[in-house]
Amino acid sequence: MEGNGKKARTVITKAPQETFALGVELGKKAKPGQVYCLNGDLGVGKTVLTQGFAQGLGIREPVNSPTFTILQSYEEGRLPLHHFDVYRVGDVEEMEEIGYEDCFYGAGVSLVEWPGLVEEILPEDALWITIEKNLEMGFDYRKITVEGED
Ligand code: ADP
Ligand code: MG
Repeated sequence: MEGNGKKARTVITKAPQETFALGVELGKKAKPGQVYCLNGDLGVGKTVLTQGFAQGLGIREPVNSPTFTILQSYEEGRLPLHHFDVYRVGDVEEMEEIGYEDCFYGAGVSLVEWPGLVEEILPEDALWITIEKNLEMGFDYRKITVEGED
């Protein structure tokens, strides 16, 4: 990938627990200031992966998509977790009002569901996780691509 030392890898999961487990692994490895873009259609498992990620960080309170509040932050883990669901965001100004810059460029880790809707504010070194279904492979099959890891 463009010789920048960043890798891409693909993980196949066949049950929600497996996607959750990938989230746990990523959460354990997460570093301060990272932004993870979670790409994929409704119902592919972005929130399932986020729930695993939160567990990997040591967060015990329940994590759900902040569809109406857009941002939910969790402070009890190894690093602060800022979980964005920007599905209902109208424009970037709204993201500024929410204070996304303190999240993206602070000491915590950010996860963004529906990143394509706020593309212009995403850091260049963001990690991208794309989850895809393939119904020919079964209802619970997911192909997960992780891009931008060290
Ligand atoms: P999103 O946040 O992408 O809209 P959710 O994580 O809320 O999606 O929901 C994903 C749904 O798909 C859950 O009901 C989950 O049980 C189901 N599912 C089935 N197979 C998988 C899998 N392999 N990985 C993740 N979720 C799966
Ligand atoms: Mg979701």
